[in-house]
Amino acid sequence: MAGVQPIVLDVEHPIGTYVNIYEARALDPRIASMRRKGGAVTAILLYLLEKGIIDSVIVARKKKGLKGEAFLAKTPEEVLQAAGSKWSIVPYTLGLKEKLLSPDVRKTAFVGLPCQAQFLRQMKMFPLMESDFSRKIYLIISLFCMGTFAVESFLNYMHRSYRLQPEDIVNIEVVKDKLLIIHRSGELEIDISEALPYLQHGCLTCPDYTGVFADISAGRSPESDYTVLITRNKLADKIVKDAAGEGYIELHEASVKTMDAILEKGREKVFRSYKYLSAVL
Ligand code: SF4
Repeated sequence: MAGVQPIVLDVEHPIGTYVNIYEARALDPRIASMRRKGGAVTAILLYLLEKGIIDSVIVARKKKGLKGEAFLAKTPEEVLQAAGSKWSIVPYTLGLKEKLLSPDVRKTAFVGLPCQAQFLRQMKMFPLMESDFSRKIYLIISLFCMGTFAVESFLNYMHRSYRLQPEDIVNIEVVKDKLLIIHRSGELEIDISEALPYLQHGCLTCPDYTGVFADISAGRSPESDYTVLITRNKLADKIVKDAAGEGYIELHEASVKTMDAILEKGREKVFRSYKYLSAVL
């Protein structure tokens, strides 16, 4: 996609450049019936797919426990099926190239983490001859990310401390400063600081909370049940507005309170990266 702005990412600009910041939620009854909060990313993907703007979506799908895999969704049903995964928890890179090389994929939307968005953006900007599959990517959507877990050691910790078997953990969600562990017998809330030692080491030096290289960045609003959408170029902004115009999402400008909360999270991650970078340099 054309129109990539220069990226500045520091405590003054912790969420990069953007066109608009919205709060949105799905109006589509198929998403509402899944009782998903926000759900705007799934609704936008359904809009793009059902209007024939893209032919597929590459998302993460939870495989087992917290492990994820790249999943190529070609139908609305498959997009809805993947929507149950907590994308920002499951890292996946293996299989991404294979999905993109599939002859079925000609114009796709990618949903992933800020680091994956950066990787794909750089491929689009500086394509290599032997692996130039980036031209197939029409839209890059990044999900807000504070980090992903070293899966095995985190699961060991959950077992040691809470007697939770890995196979019983259904999902993990970040809710404000808490981790909500959803398991087969109920839910468990733990302070996010308790999980920090189990983050991937690389995540501790990563400054990008929102995904500044994406076309659209998205994450749950810290202040409401809406999805925050950050559009970073004109086409991305048009897609979001058109999805609203077609009745897939409800959309309004983000409140000052929501924007402040996102900026605060962004700054927190930039500061964290400074702290850990200075420790290793
Ligand atoms: S914290 Fe950064 S490096 Fe870690 S998964 Fe998130 S975007 Fe990727």
